[in-house]
Parts: sequence; structure tokens; C-alpha cells
Amino acid sequence: MTYSSNEFDAKEVVNNDRKHVWHHLSQHKPYEENDPMVIVKGEGMRVWDAKGNEYLDAVSGAVWTVNVGYGRTEIADAVRDQLVTLNYFAQTAGNVPAAQFAEKLIDKMPGMSRVYYSNSGSEANEKVFKMVRQIAEKNYGGKKHKILFRERDYHGTTITALSATGQFERKNQYGPFTPGFVEVPHCCEYRAQEGADLENYGVWAANQIEKVILAEGPDTVGALCLEPITAGGGVIEPPHGYWERVQEICKQYNVLLHIDEVVCGLGRTGKWFGYQHYGIKPDMVTMAKGVASGYAAISCTVTTEAVFDLFKEPEDGRMDYFRDISTFGGCTAGPAAALVNMQIIEDEKLLDNVVEQGEYLRGRLHQLMDKYQVIGDVRGKGLFAGFELVKDRLTKEPVDEALSMQIGAHCMSNGVIIGRTNRSFKEYNNTICLSPALIATRADIDKIVDALDNALADLAPNS
Ligand code: PLP
Repeated sequence: MTYSSNEFDAKEVVNNDRKHVWHHLSQHKPYEENDPMVIVKGEGMRVWDAKGNEYLDAVSGAVWTVNVGYGRTEIADAVRDQLVTLNYFAQTAGNVPAAQFAEKLIDKMPGMSRVYYSNSGSEANEKVFKMVRQIAEKNYGGKKHKILFRERDYHGTTITALSATGQFERKNQYGPFTPGFVEVPHCCEYRAQEGADLENYGVWAANQIEKVILAEGPDTVGALCLEPITAGGGVIEPPHGYWERVQEICKQYNVLLHIDEVVCGLGRTGKWFGYQHYGIKPDMVTMAKGVASGYAAISCTVTTEAVFDLFKEPEDGRMDYFRDISTFGGCTAGPAAALVNMQIIEDEKLLDNVVEQGEYLRGRLHQLMDKYQVIGDVRGKGLFAGFELVKDRLTKEPVDEALSMQIGAHCMSNGVIIGRTNRSFKEYNNTICLSPALIATRADIDKIVDALDNALADLAPNS
């Protein structure tokens, strides 16, 4: 029997979806009048739903994932060829695409050395947490086990990844959490904390991390886990001076620096990795989403050789290797897809495109800000942008969540899918997020911003 995803009865699919599928991050209503949206096809920057509606996807699969765009037959062909050769063998042994991709990836990450495969961003982060705990056990009598995370950052959906997440509304109702995770203050300049040094906010915000380390005791803090640019917490690029100071603090207190590149990795910001804009030397880097642009599930925990060395056989011959396995880390489809994904980014010079179109996008968003008082701040880097909606530019009071939802629905009815902060950080469900595929053209950006312009003209005209 052959199955073609193009052959289906749209009504039946929609009904089956409504009856049986539990959608993510969605409130299901028993009295729902509208049909659920079922996406059936993608090509380039566009997707189609079961009813034949076409959308320009300004968020790469809703959650900043499809970096090289939809319908890449070269990735599908490579995955198919690999699956019929060898679909799976646990990562207790090597396989061809895993070895080839690791080599290609490390080539783009000077200073890094080892790749540990698993299958989601949350899981890649969990690997780091386990490594930190084991390093503490092996070298510091278990004491240096605490992991610091930043207010507004997100590191995943599992209970421990949520324990390392600084988003109150996402965590609400899921406690109790894993002990040993400690929050440090955010570094969003637009929302600078009371009493902050506004002249030198980057250094001030980094110094708040030092205060937490000193309060906890430096001999108890093993690692600091940060997004290079906070994504779901509101698209926040740390201000000037922040990263230099963070790096100094980590060095001074012997704290491992873990950078979560699950969103920023693989070109989103115009460099291979977000941290590479700031001259940071991380000890661990995690990535998922754009690694294979969603053509297969794959995530990587990348470490320096120095971290890897800590897990080698000690001189007394003890068996204390990294006792971890991820079954699907042995799926070969992931690295097979990731290899071609990376090749596409190189061959099509997509990093250059991200820089060029990203600047154009931000320019157009600033024009929107000139036009609509409701836009309080425009942020981002490369094809990764966000803008905050406020009731009043002076007080910066965020708009109600309903307005961001209406703007999303308005854009959707005009054929453009946009994103927004979704019940993440306190009441700040007011940031519209954009992360189009790295192949976006100027015409695509125009269509996205025009849809936003129309939505704001109807829903938030200047008062
Ligand atoms: N880290 C960051 C920065 C993310 O944005 C996400 C997901 O959105 C994750 C980790 C978790 O990744 P996953 O959903 O693949 O587990």
C-alpha cells in the first residue's frame, strides 16, 4: 500500500483531529464552533491548511524551527537513503551521519569538541544538568551542584527543564520543582529593574548574577545556563557590556557557562550560533529546533574537550562515565537531515541573507513604531524580532493579552502566521514575535509587516 499525504478527505481529517488530538499550548473548548486548523502542506515560506488556505509562515513552524523552509526534497532524499541503509542503532556505537555531522558542526564552533545526541531541546538541556551534577559529585563532594538560570529564559518542558526556567506563568501549576536551581534577574533594558544603573545596564545586570553566586556560596554553584537572546520570554538581546562581565564572573567563581542555542542556533541571528556575536567561550552549548529544521528530531549537547575529559576513566579505574542514554539519540534520520540542512545554509549563503533581511525587517518594524503609539520597543537580531505592545509609552503598561491574540488572528485572516509571547513571563503576554525562515525575501518581509500594519490600523489606531 502506498500512502500519499496529498490524498485525504479534508473533512474527515479535521473531524478526527477535533475528536482525538490534544493540541499543544491550546485551550480546548467543549463548545468550540471553529474547526481546528490542520496544516497539510508546506513549500518554501508557505504552508496550507486542510481547507486550502495559504499562509506565509513568519515563525518557521510556529516555534522558530523550520530554518531552511518547507519542502526541501534534498533533505527528504538524504533521510530516505539513510533510513534504508541503517535507520537506527543506539549511540553506544557510532554511525555514519552522526560522525559526519559532528565533524561539520564542531568546525563551526571553535573551542568546542564533543557532540552528545538526543532528541529535543529539553533533553539536550537535561544532559547538561546531569553533567553538572556528576561533575559536582566527582570533583566537589556533591557541593558545587547548583545551576543558575535567568528570569524570563525558557529551557524546556520537562519538570527539571522547567525548574531551570524563569517564566512564572509557564511553571505555575507544575511544581514542586527539582531542587538546586536558582534564578538570577533578567537583563531586559526596556523593563529595567527599579534601582538599576541605567547608564551601564549591561554590567549592572551581569553583576546581579555575581550577587546571587555570592549569596548562594560560590562553592555551591556549578553552572550558569543562559539563552544568548531570550526567545519565548520576549526576544531580549542582553545589553552592551553584559556578556563580557558574565564571562568574567564565570571564570572568577569557577562556574561552567551553558548557552542554550535551541532557538538561536543554526543561523537564526545571522551567525551559526547566537553566542558567536559576543565573543563568549561557553563550556556547553545545547541546540535542537533548527539543527535539522524539523525534518527529523535531533538535539545536540556540545561540550569542550575539557568538560569531556572530566568524564574519562580516572586514574584509580573507577567506572564513573556519563551514565546516560537517550534511545532516539541513535536515530540516524536526525544527523542525516542535519548534514544537508547545514549544507543548504552554506550553499545558499543564508547567514548573509539573515543579516540583510534582518536589518530590513527591523527597519520596517521601526517604521511601524513611528506610526503606532502602541509599539513600545522593537528588539531582536537577524531574522529574529519582537516588539512590545503597551497601553502607554510613558508608563510602559503592557496591553491585555486579548489584543496580541486579536492581532495574531487578524494577520492569520490576511494569510500571515505570526507569533507572540504566550503565557510566559508574568503579565507580559504583549510581545509579538517574528522568526521567518532564513530564506525570507524582501517581498516576504513586506507581506509580514504589511499584515501587521493592517492589523494595528484596525485594532490599535493611535488615540
Ligand atoms: N530552550 C529554548 C530556548 C527553547 O525555546 C525551547 C523550546 O521552545 C527549548 C529549550 C525546549 O526545546 P524542546 O521543545 O525541543 O524540548
